[in-house]
Amino acid sequence: MNTANKPSVLLIYTGGTIGMIRNTETGALESFTFDHLSQHIPELRQLQCNIASVQFDPPIDSSNMEPALWVELAHIVCDNYDRYDGFVVLHGSDTMAYTASAMSFALENLSKPVIFTGSQLPIGILRTDGKENLITAIEIASAKRPDGSPMVPEVCILFQDRLLRGCRTTKANAEHFNAFRSHNYPSLADVGVHINYYTRRIRRPDPDKPLKPHFLYDTNVIVLTLFPGIQERIVSQVLRMEGLKAVVMKTFGTGNAPQKEWFSRAIHEATERGVVIMNVTQCPSGSVEMERYETGRQLLEAGVTSGYDCTVEATVTKLMFLLGHGYTPDEVRRLMNTSIAGEITLESDRPLQYDSLSF
Ligand code: ASP
Repeated sequence: MNTANKPSVLLIYTGGTIGMIRNTETGALESFTFDHLSQHIPELRQLQCNIASVQFDPPIDSSNMEPALWVELAHIVCDNYDRYDGFVVLHGSDTMAYTASAMSFALENLSKPVIFTGSQLPIGILRTDGKENLITAIEIASAKRPDGSPMVPEVCILFQDRLLRGCRTTKANAEHFNAFRSHNYPSLADVGVHINYYTRRIRRPDPDKPLKPHFLYDTNVIVLTLFPGIQERIVSQVLRMEGLKAVVMKTFGTGNAPQKEWFSRAIHEATERGVVIMNVTQCPSGSVEMERYETGRQLLEAGVTSGYDCTVEATVTKLMFLLGHGYTPDEVRRLMNTSIAGEITLESDRPLQYDSLSF
């Protein structure tokens, strides 16, 4: 077989259900190897591309994912960057949205596809969704535009019938095969009989800029979800925690919080001390608008920064990324309101919805 002109894809197997097998004694799913994957998908050999693979040792359930492993993943992509046309990352779905977000920030000037996928049922099970996800992810990672440039030079998640921008995704369903959503940005491609790419929604890299990988994260970050009845004692202690650098505060509606004197005082004290407090909404879709209600305006006046329509996953990983690079609190606040990888909607970033290429 002539392999010379075929695109080449590197499969990076990190773990997750897609490669798990049932332990007959305990009944639990445990990680298996990449060979297990390829044995169950002989169709891989029929794809019009050269596939090589590497795997985490040992493969992990994605609940055990952590920044040190994001660094390992970024190194794998970076060390193999010139040898492959695209990358497919097999990853557990539970924290896939965090890793895909972290990679979107880590791989600056990315000009090749990095497509995350996984499955809800292991490959070895008859009704598995893993086989289709894997094959489609490889097709997308190797797809080219008519001018020969990569079709999707972004970090994405492909799950069932949608290709989504990685830093816009959230795992929204623990049961259905269609497990991921991108509530605030439309899909980059829809997968049916054809793979329909919405080219105007896909970022285009500057071809003159080389890949600039980043490997630093600072994890002194916490997510604080507000709820009616939240206690002063607990909020105050959280905000005064030693070493705390940033808070992702999940607020109500368009970015609102209880209008209590103790609450705005505690927030104000923390922002004055240099803690970056990001306001993201608990609603799955829509954007923060702190000017809209008094209950939101008080947060703005206390020094809270709007997270606009950014997901919690992208906000957490972007904060870790910026703090890891030693930016001052004011620089972090400014960059949190700048789109680095298409993670927030700015006016100039509005997608055109109906421009597509079909393959
Ligand atoms: N617990 C698994 C993981 O995230 C679930 C999955 O693979 O989808 O690794």
